[in-house]
This record gives sequence, C-alpha cells and structure tokens, in this order.
Amino acid sequence: SDTKGPNFLEEIVAKDLEAGKYKSLVTRFPPEPNGYLHIGHAKSICLNFGLAQEFGGYTNLRFDDTNPVTEETQYVESIKQDVRWLGFQWENELYASDYFDQLYAFAIKLIEKGLAYVDDSTAEEIAAQKGTPTRPGTNSPYRSRSVEENLRIFEEMRTGKYPDGAKVLRAKIDMAHPNMHMRDPLMYRIKHAHHHRTGDAWCIYPMYDFAHGQSDAIEHITHSVCTLEFIPHRELYDWFIEKLELFPSRQYEFARLNMTYTVMSKRKLLQLVNEKHVSGWDDPRMPTISGLRRRGYTPESIRDFCDRIGVAKRENLIDVGLLEFCVREDLNKTALRRMVVLDPLKVVITNYPEGKVEMLTGEENPEDPNSGSREIPFSRELYIEQEDFMENAPKKYFRLAPGQMVRLKHAYIIKCEDVVKDAQGTILEVHCTYIPESKSGEDTSGINVKGTLHWVSAGQALPIEVRLYDRLFTLEDVSEAEGDFKEHLNPDSLQVIPTAWAEPALKTAGLDERYQFLRKGYFTLDKDSTADKIIFNRTVGLRDMWAK
Ligand code: ATP
Ligand code: MG
Ligand code: MG
Repeated sequence: SDTKGPNFLEEIVAKDLEAGKYKSLVTRFPPEPNGYLHIGHAKSICLNFGLAQEFGGYTNLRFDDTNPVTEETQYVESIKQDVRWLGFQWENELYASDYFDQLYAFAIKLIEKGLAYVDDSTAEEIAAQKGTPTRPGTNSPYRSRSVEENLRIFEEMRTGKYPDGAKVLRAKIDMAHPNMHMRDPLMYRIKHAHHHRTGDAWCIYPMYDFAHGQSDAIEHITHSVCTLEFIPHRELYDWFIEKLELFPSRQYEFARLNMTYTVMSKRKLLQLVNEKHVSGWDDPRMPTISGLRRRGYTPESIRDFCDRIGVAKRENLIDVGLLEFCVREDLNKTALRRMVVLDPLKVVITNYPEGKVEMLTGEENPEDPNSGSREIPFSRELYIEQEDFMENAPKKYFRLAPGQMVRLKHAYIIKCEDVVKDAQGTILEVHCTYIPESKSGEDTSGINVKGTLHWVSAGQALPIEVRLYDRLFTLEDVSEAEGDFKEHLNPDSLQVIPTAWAEPALKTAGLDERYQFLRKGYFTLDKDSTADKIIFNRTVGLRDMWAK
C-alpha cells in the first residue's frame, strides 16, 4: 500500500484517530465456524489485522457461532491454524456464544423499553407482513402485546416451553420503513439444537443482526469491517447500538473477493467436499487456505496478492492469474532448483565408461548467491523428457534430434548419434556421445549449442509421484453459471503421473520446502507423502501468463 496510497478504510481510520474519536484501533475477524477459510477470508484477515498493525491497535478473532446447526469444533481449529499460518496473531480468542447471557439481557432491555415484542406469526405470515420495497408492510397482530406479556413469553421461550418456529422475538421499529431490514426484524428464534460450545443450555438463538453489532460493541471494536451485502444491515446495526446505549462500534463495507475459475462460498465448497468432487477441504485445487498451503502457496504470496488487489467498494472478479503471478514471484526468489523428468526417454552416452558415476554440482538457487549447491550424479544412462527429442525435427528445433547437439544442464554437451526402436517402430532409447571438454563451469570445447535440457541419471534417480493441477472449473465466472455450478467442473483438473524420475537430492525433501523443477514449474511435497511413496504437488507452472 506504500506505492498505491491509502485505501478508503485507512483514510477513515486515520481521520477517526486524528479526531480523537477512539483512543486506539480495535478490529475483529469474525468467521462463522461452519467451514474452512478460503482466499476471500484471507482478504478480510489481511485487511483487519493489517489495519491494526498499521495504526498500532489490535485484532480479535471472534467466532461468530450463533447458529448451532452448522457449526463444528473441527472448523474452529482449522480457522485458528490458517490465521496463524498467514502470519497473524489475534489479541483475544472470543466466541459470540459467550455473549448469549448478555445478548439475552439486551433483548429484555429492549422489551422493557417497548422496542421488542414476541410474535406468534408463522414465517410465511411474517414474510407477507414485510411488504415490498415499494409497498409498506403491515403490523403483526401481536405487535401491541404489553411489556409484561412480552417478558413472560420471552422467558418461556428461553425455558423451552415452545417448539421450534412457534414464536420469535422482533424489534419494534417501523413496518413502513424504506429499508426493508428495519421492518420489525427478527432478533431471536427458537431452535432446540445442540450448540458446539453451549451444549443444550439454550433453545433460543439470536439472529445475526442482533448478535454481530452487539458483540462488536461488547468488545469495543472501533471499525467493524464487512462485505458489501451488509450495507442494508448498517442502519439496524446502528439502531440496536443506539437503543441499547452501547459502545459506538461502526460498520464499514468493502467488496468481497471473487476469483476466476473457482467458487468462494463455503456452502458450495462444502458441496464439493461432501459429493467427493475433491478429496477434502484441503484438496490442492480448492481455493481454501489449507488447499493453497498443501498446493505449495506461501503466506507471503497470499499476503502480497491481498495487497495488490487493494480494497474496493465495488464487486469485481479477480483473475486467478494474479495469485499465480504472486506465488511465482515469491518462489523464484526462494525455491530450491531440482531436475525431475516427468515423461522419461532413455539416453545412453556410448562413449561414457560403464559403471562410472560422476558427481556434478548445481546451484541451489541462482537468484540467491548464498543458497549454496547440491551434488547431481551423472552416468552413462540418463533420462530426458520424451518431448525434448524429435526424430524428424523441423529447422528451428533446438532440443535433441539425430545429428544435433544440446547441453545437459550442469553437465556436458551431448550429440545424438542413433535411435534404437522396437519392431513396431517405438523409440526405446537414444544413443549419444558426450564432449568431455564441455563440462559446465570448465567448458573448453568452444562449441555453442542453443538448447539446454534437464535430465537425471537413470541408476540413481528417485521414483516420485507427481500431481499436476489445472483450474477446478472451466468457466471464468462460475457465479454467473446457470443451473448447477458443478456442471462446470473441469474433468481434467488433476493429472497424476505415477512415476516421474527425480534427482536423488529430493529424497530428503520436507513438507515446508518449495522447489523449482527446472522447466516444469514449482513443486512441494504433499502431506500424504511417505518414505516409500514420495508425492509432489505442482503449485504453479513457470510460464507467466500475467501481464505485468
Ligand atoms: P461464505 O459466503 O464463504 O460462507 P461468509 O461471509 O458467510 O462467507 P464468514 O465466516 O461469515 O463467511 O466470514 C468471515 C469474514 O470474512 C466476514 O467478515 C466476511 O465478510 C469475510 N469474507 C468472507 N468471504 C469473503 C470474500 N470472498 N472476500 C472478502 N471477505 C470475505
Ligand atoms: Mg457470515
Ligand atoms: Mg456464509
């Protein structure tokens, strides 16, 4: 944000602090623990924690767990892990459910002020009472209940006298209000459901609108940042705070992050998991933080992405290519270089002694002079990529072809002398000679070649499984899809290469290490990898499709 200038939220916060409106900044990140966090949440995390860091305040992690039906403890744990992994530390870990007693007391206070009433109308009746944006609504027949009657029935609702849906508590505002959210909105509903933290203590639960702002106020949140769809809720947010005479938290809205070729709603992501279109919430194709982590994304690259997209006030669709650009930028600087052949073609160096293994050296990372080097075995039998050889090559083909020379990276120049085929004409191996004086770093051969290939020594190569990923959906804007969004799943989003051949230095790869496989992209070890079956995920290819 240094180069871009302050965003609109930074401007608001700076002004508020300057005017002495608040002593210091307090923000919160308020996930509902009903799913894993995704890259859209990362945007909100970077924004909330970033503001607090910039202005010297702090951020609470508040689980917005007022809906007992969809929330689970496993989600709480994954959310904490993901926020920490992104590089942020919250001041307090809080739960909206811890405020149930206090919220109940707030409701009583509104009833006593004549500003809330128990309504026996059905959901359909309440919907009909609401009217339309152009037509005022009608008052519920229960709207004029006395304070005493409301207090008595609300208490009975709490103690479990009524079944689900029998009654609700509504705010008494104005059924002709131009803002539909102000037409006597629901505050409490009856739900005889087990809650992941409060168990069976409650059978009435507060609605989002009656819980969120009050939770903000209890925590003295100064700037409550949320996404644009909550703009129409702001008036109600302010109304509750005013009528309850609470700390004046204020709500500000920004555009949610939408990204091409994926979906960003937890409901849809859960469907993909439940219907087994992906292997789980952390499938490397998922836009979840855990999926991106498993895929090899770094926290730095995700923070950089969130910074680059900025804070918008209008909905937009961000090209996933920008996220890929960010991770390439980061990994180019940090990833260790290795050679891995995904689709092997045997090369025999006929003038290299049988049985000899020579150790060559290659730099760990040419972008980092302090990264050191690794040893790479070279011998008479090697693998190169099938696609790096052509028997009948066109004129400008600079890879290996009969009579043509190429350099093997960190090794020697070789020349193709012969092609060995089976009876069906399938190429079995390619016979080459090497130029002993052409060794990388001490080349005195005077030969110039245009092509450089990656390779591995067949005898020492390590078999690994490689998983290549493509877009999860074939449609750029999945939210615009008509009908079932799952019809647009990309059937080729996962390609498994059961046996690729890696240089032996990869044997000791760890889970947090990132590699560049030369000419093939950036890769990281998968969490299902074992000593017997080493598995690598491709994070992203090398080619940069993103115009700078
Ligand atoms: P979803 O639609 O995926 O279920 P949500 O908004 O219901 O998202 P919450 O757990 O309530 O999910 O979100 C926690 C915080 O993250 C909220 O403040 C929300 O505004 C923000 N958030 C969620 N999705 C995005 C997004 N795509 N871009 C930016 N912020 C988001
Ligand atoms: Mg939400
Ligand atoms: Mg949601």
